[in-house]
Amino acid sequence: MDFKSYIRVIPDFPQPGIRFKDITTLLKDGPAYKAAIEELTTFAKEVQADVIAGPEARGFVVGAPLSYALGVGFIPIRKSGKLPYESIKAEYNLEYGKDALAVHVDAIQPGQRVLIADDLLATGGTITSTIKLIEQLGGIVVGAAFFIELSYLEGRQKMGDIPVKSLVVY
Ligand code: IMP
Repeated sequence: MDFKSYIRVIPDFPQPGIRFKDITTLLKDGPAYKAAIEELTTFAKEVQADVIAGPEARGFVVGAPLSYALGVGFIPIRKSGKLPYESIKAEYNLEYGKDALAVHVDAIQPGQRVLIADDLLATGGTITSTIKLIEQLGGIVVGAAFFIELSYLEGRQKMGDIPVKSLVVY
């Protein structure tokens, strides 16, 4: 499927110079959303993931249906200050801005094979700190799956030899 044709590009959002990739136009199309999740499910099976982790908020939209399709658990990676139980956190830089991500200390069992899911790989800041959190808990990051990769921001280069799957590359 030509997933790129379902993505809307918004110039100068949320600030001048950013060409925002809007996935809502893909999500609202049932067959396109389903096909996207199915393609990422195939990748998750290849890397033998036994749990999915997704950073809020759009990582939930990609990661949760993947978990359901595989019959494995889902771990929400949340913005700092949102999780109710004891958590660890990691700071990260966005393509525009700065933030911190957090995860519950008991979210992952040591040795679990974790696949990270998000809508978009830009500079890799979000994913790098998600990897840090998972590894701190003893998880093994076996892959990262995205709808979109902005290859000119070179996020993939920050991920060492972790396999990366993206459906659309700009
Ligand atoms: P990174 O941390 O620089 O790789 O940025 C990736 C994160 O920023 C993802 O969680 C995305 O949801 C968000 N993001 C950055 N640029 C865009 C965009 O153009 N469209 C949608 N989300 C974006």
